[in-house]
Amino acid sequence: MLAYCKSLPKAELHAHLNGSVSVRAIEKLIELRKRSEPDYKADDRVLSTAKAQDKIRTLADAFLMFPLIQALTQTSEAVTLATVEVISEFNDDNVKYLELRTTPRENTVTSMSKVDYIEAVLAGIATCSERLPIIVRLLLSIDRRQEVADASETVDLAIKFAKSKDARVVGVELSGDPKFDGRKFLPLFQKAREHGLKITLHLAESCDWMEELSEMLALPPDRIGHGTLLHNDPVHAAVIRENSIPLEICLTSNFICQTTKTFKDSHLDFWFSRKQPVCLCTDDQGVFDTYLSKEFEIASETFNLTKQDLFDTSLCGLRCGFAPKEELYAIERIWAQFAKEHALKYSSLRD
Ligand SMILES: [Zn+2]
Repeated sequence: MLAYCKSLPKAELHAHLNGSVSVRAIEKLIELRKRSEPDYKADDRVLSTAKAQDKIRTLADAFLMFPLIQALTQTSEAVTLATVEVISEFNDDNVKYLELRTTPRENTVTSMSKVDYIEAVLAGIATCSERLPIIVRLLLSIDRRQEVADASETVDLAIKFAKSKDARVVGVELSGDPKFDGRKFLPLFQKAREHGLKITLHLAESCDWMEELSEMLALPPDRIGHGTLLHNDPVHAAVIRENSIPLEICLTSNFICQTTKTFKDSHLDFWFSRKQPVCLCTDDQGVFDTYLSKEFEIASETFNLTKQDLFDTSLCGLRCGFAPKEELYAIERIWAQFAKEHALKYSSLRD
């Protein structure tokens, strides 16, 4: 089934740029760093964690790797390199439509501003667009720990870049430590929506801050990141069903973070059996040592999904993308062709 999952055209909608940086990319970033700082040496313990094979990653491993990736992406050149590497790896996994997400950050030492940072990511996307058969769009992230003023700056930047010529910024998202209340950002999300941006919110990853959920769901978001515990509350589940809000489900991430104890405990089954739109995603494929085809295989093995189910889920991912519908329809031709070659059922939304 893994070979089939690899051959399947896929859409990835929940991928944090930093967390998607693989060990291969880390090694390239270290080489880049050494060009300007020959004595630079990355922490051996972190590197051996990143390089360990045949070992299931733990949350502690991930927390070791994040600071290294952050430290290696402090210049525009490094941010562009990281972006190119991440997109190339999604492309290698036959991902045809990718939405990356990242929190704009500045660095006073290297004089990288938030605008420089976003432009560096967009430069990486532009480079890949020229040479790889993958469409990439960008979401700007608000971190739950941020001050409202910081987040407001992110929304303003998203609005500005969304109106630029190539319009690759298509939305904003909320992520970060779930114990920080997200309600203070709601007016900002309203503003983003008024300017045509789409919204996805990490919600209900842990039991913390469940009291924010009614107000966050009332927005309503265009998609939900994880939503791991939402099905436990009939009122919340009803809101999601009535608004047909797609859920971005990341099986390996949820398991490593232990928000679901086993794959079988995942909320995927609950929503899938109710025909709610669900999108399989990786979250942080570099630090969690996974890739999208593997997530499809895990879903298939855990929930007995057929090839048709996997195809439908993959197509659902594309249709839940935040790019303009016309662009998504154009990409959908790849899915139509795949269905034809594999004798799968497929119906265009235009039929
Ligand atoms: Zn995430």
